[in-house]
Amino acid sequence: MVDYGIKVWANGDFIIKNGKVCVNEGSQPAIIDIVKEIRSNGIRGPLLLRFPHLIHKQIRSIYSNFKQAQKEIKYQGSFQAVYPLKVNQFPNFVKNMVEIGKEYKYGLEAGSKAELILAMTHNNNGSPITVNGFKDSEMIGLGFIAAEMGHNITLTIEGLNELEGIIETAKERFAPKPKIGLRIRLHSSGTGIWAKSGGINSKFGLTSTELIQAVKMLKNANLLEQFTMIHFHIGSQISEIAPMKKALREAGNIYAELKKMGAKNLHAINLGGGLAIEYSQYESVQQRNYTLQEYANDVVYLLKDIANKKNEMEPDIFIESGRYVAASHAVLIAPVLELFSQEYTEQKLEFKEANPQLVEELHYLYTTINAKNAMEYLHDAIDHMESLLTLFDLGYVDLQDRSNTEVLVNLIIKKAVNILGEKHYSEILNIQEQVQEKYLVNFSIFQSLPDYWGLEQNFPVMPLDMLDEHPTRSASLWDITCDSDGEIGFDIKEPLFLHDVDLDEREYFLGFFLVGAYQEVLGMKHNLFTHPTEATIKINNDGYEVENLLESQCILDILEDLDYDVRDIQDTLNDRIEESELIDEKAKKHILGELYLLLNDNGYLKTVSNIPNKVQ
Ligand SMILES: *Cc1c(COP(=O)(O)O)cnc(C)c1O
Repeated sequence: MVDYGIKVWANGDFIIKNGKVCVNEGSQPAIIDIVKEIRSNGIRGPLLLRFPHLIHKQIRSIYSNFKQAQKEIKYQGSFQAVYPLKVNQFPNFVKNMVEIGKEYKYGLEAGSKAELILAMTHNNNGSPITVNGFKDSEMIGLGFIAAEMGHNITLTIEGLNELEGIIETAKERFAPKPKIGLRIRLHSSGTGIWAKSGGINSKFGLTSTELIQAVKMLKNANLLEQFTMIHFHIGSQISEIAPMKKALREAGNIYAELKKMGAKNLHAINLGGGLAIEYSQYESVQQRNYTLQEYANDVVYLLKDIANKKNEMEPDIFIESGRYVAASHAVLIAPVLELFSQEYTEQKLEFKEANPQLVEELHYLYTTINAKNAMEYLHDAIDHMESLLTLFDLGYVDLQDRSNTEVLVNLIIKKAVNILGEKHYSEILNIQEQVQEKYLVNFSIFQSLPDYWGLEQNFPVMPLDMLDEHPTRSASLWDITCDSDGEIGFDIKEPLFLHDVDLDEREYFLGFFLVGAYQEVLGMKHNLFTHPTEATIKINNDGYEVENLLESQCILDILEDLDYDVRDIQDTLNDRIEESELIDEKAKKHILGELYLLLNDNGYLKTVSNIPNKVQ
């Protein structure tokens, strides 16, 4: 059976049991059952499920791998991790993450004033805060306030002007002061689509000349003792370990050199983020060539080696992994609304007295197709369609002929892929682009998978059930925005096959996995589709709890966010209806009631179909 590469990307977080995707934790609930329970309360549209146990799993694995690596080679420095808020600042992620991180003294990283305020309010007592990114004097002041409140905070300087700001601010503020970190500009950089943060031309960090000057400035301002950390970040989703090792060697040597220049309190190297996760559903196109164990071993070994050679103390190690911590915790579930070819049924055929020769032939192909001739007939049908469409353009066949052509060809494709099935997979694959089915899915790619739109980053996708049946249709996925970019096209190199379902008979849901990092906050409100309904699922040994169900914004709130005066919108709609001369009082009342409900409901689709009580 097709397992949608679950062994490649799921890291044991999800498994297939009885034909359903299940969460591999405690009672191992099927995701589809959780979805159905939530929908039984009238919730419709796409749904984002958060699984806090997966945040815990990632945090635990970071700590245990680094601790293990340090223990093995008797590393002298400590290990600490902070979570960069920019990866996901949504409260139902952050609150769970902070609570889970407590026992590890897991800290937070902030890159803006708003994130720093979040860190100052949510961070566990005693856990570190690091601040990166460009800072003005107000943000520097905020960093000082955090230190004065008792936070263990390090302000990382991106440029010398920021350091001047810190020196000025320090003169005016109270004790205690924040610690100071220097971001170093490496000549090494990462690889892959996110590798713009490192390298000599990167947006961030001090050159070696600037580092020397920074130490002098700190010394003159009597602040050198606050300088405790150097920081680098070579980019996100680092696909290969080699560039990371190169960067580490460079950073380790800079650390030792700065110590020799008198930075006596410098004790930490912050490696930034970049730990990759595997998004690929195909073993042949994996995106990461190392394990966390290997990464941890390399980091610890290299830093020990450099420190020992240069006769300096082994530095404490900080990391700021975001993607690795957050990605797996969230799954997006989207209902399939329509299979485009589903409307092509035999009932739609309306033959004329005399049909064009090619239409007659298509009909013949359709009625006589069998296992022996299926492949050949499929090719013929596609050829005939091309010819008939050309004849239509030239005016030789009419709209009814064209309709019969489209219906027949779709019926032939359906029959052929069913007959050929699994056995002729490779042959069929060659013509999948032509015979693919389009699935209309109730979600917005711009809102929920912005990195697919912006960077062509694939996310694992699979149906939530029917996994004991072979999927026969090569699929392209269409979202509900009216933008032609809102499509995940069929890709012959990483083909997606889905089931040929009759949506009048059953529901069909797709799960998009590993969407917990970056997607939520980068999500765009294209067409005014906003963040989907979300829920936090806590799994135990007997079942699971649905917590913090937060419905997708209603239409009035969406408009209010754009700064519309929603009172005005409501009044205008009411007035126009009241003043209308086309409808009577009873109708007006009815319409006003309908509008009221609509304005207070979320903006995703709710197609009603023939299944009793089924509303998508
Ligand atoms: C974005 C960022 C991170 C997180 O990177 P991931 O690839 O998500 O681990 C860490 N540190 C800094 C400075 C960043 O800008």
